[in-house]
Amino acid sequence: MLNTNYTEKLLGFKDAFIKSVERQDKKLCIYLEMYQRIHKCPRCGERTSKVHDYRIQPIKDVPSFGEMTVIYLRKRRHVCPMCNKKFYEEVSFLPKYYRMTSRLIAYVINSLKNVGSIKSVASTANISQPTAARIFDHIGYFNKELPRALSIDEFRGNAGGEKFQCIVTDPENKRVLDILPNRKTEDLSGYFLKYKERKKVQYFVIDMSGPYRNLAKSLFPHAKIIADKYHVVRQVIWAFENVRKEEQSKFHDARRKYFKRSRKVLLKKPETLSPEEAAQVSAMLNASERLRQAYFMKNEFHKFMECKNREEARKQLGIWYMMAVGYNLPEFQACTKTFINWQEEILNSFEYPFTNGYTEGVNNKIKVIKRNAFGVRNFSRFRNHILHVMS
Ligand SMILES: [Zn+2]
Repeated sequence: MLNTNYTEKLLGFKDAFIKSVERQDKKLCIYLEMYQRIHKCPRCGERTSKVHDYRIQPIKDVPSFGEMTVIYLRKRRHVCPMCNKKFYEEVSFLPKYYRMTSRLIAYVINSLKNVGSIKSVASTANISQPTAARIFDHIGYFNKELPRALSIDEFRGNAGGEKFQCIVTDPENKRVLDILPNRKTEDLSGYFLKYKERKKVQYFVIDMSGPYRNLAKSLFPHAKIIADKYHVVRQVIWAFENVRKEEQSKFHDARRKYFKRSRKVLLKKPETLSPEEAAQVSAMLNASERLRQAYFMKNEFHKFMECKNREEARKQLGIWYMMAVGYNLPEFQACTKTFINWQEEILNSFEYPFTNGYTEGVNNKIKVIKRNAFGVRNFSRFRNHILHVMS
């Protein structure tokens, strides 16, 4: 028998002693027993140390040197001399309802911080995947305060019966504040209304979605609403891509060969093209007047995005609108319409340095989590998983 001090200090098992340690195949078996103590009867309060019987309980522990470790605890069942109630002795290092030690749980929680799969964590810790996933039911993340800059976006999580979930972040300090179960306006309002100090929020970054803007205006009247730059550029890229696909589909003859890898080449900035690519671009543009116009509009928009301040941006955007009117490209006219509707929010992005860039990065991580999670149908588990990895 090892002495108590060793058992407690080195192995962390309080009030227990090791009877023996054995190695079986690739498993380390520790045989453990609790020191006999006086227990209070949970029914009548009588104090007793009378033993009724024993039971061997296998408990999983942290793997040591890559080997799985199992503790076999010889657990006493006491019997109350007064009321005859039978009850198990207390084991301090064993959390309720888990057949593993507290420190194994701590180990699993820590390993689950990596975006890696639940499968690999479960296999290293020698527990089942559902058990590993279940740990997220017992981790709680609650955001208490709102930052001065707030960003909201959505992602396709397919969790808890809803296609889209919302992500709320602090873009300035790069922190995920919360994951919300859906993007319904009334639920989002209900969520933000719980915060008392909403006046603190000075910046609210959104994609160009009407419901988010209404939400911001009604709940955060002190906040500048900022259209996320990436979403703004995306509109132009989509418009350009629609023109390109349509024009490209018109060519069935020899000219079709010009359009090989056209997407990649045409989306590059002109100044970064190699001589061969430049020749390819000019061949494509010569083949289609609409494509030539769309290409010009796309490049001019990049110039607008590089403006250094709000006033310069306002002028450039005005020029861009004029060019769109001059060309007969319905795709870009639709873009212009959206931008006019969102002009102030777009120009705000030139004055205040906040974007959804961080949020988009988190969304990519969420995709990885989703792929490697065990059951994202359970929303609160999914939410805790994301917040755990991102915390
Ligand atoms: Zn009793």
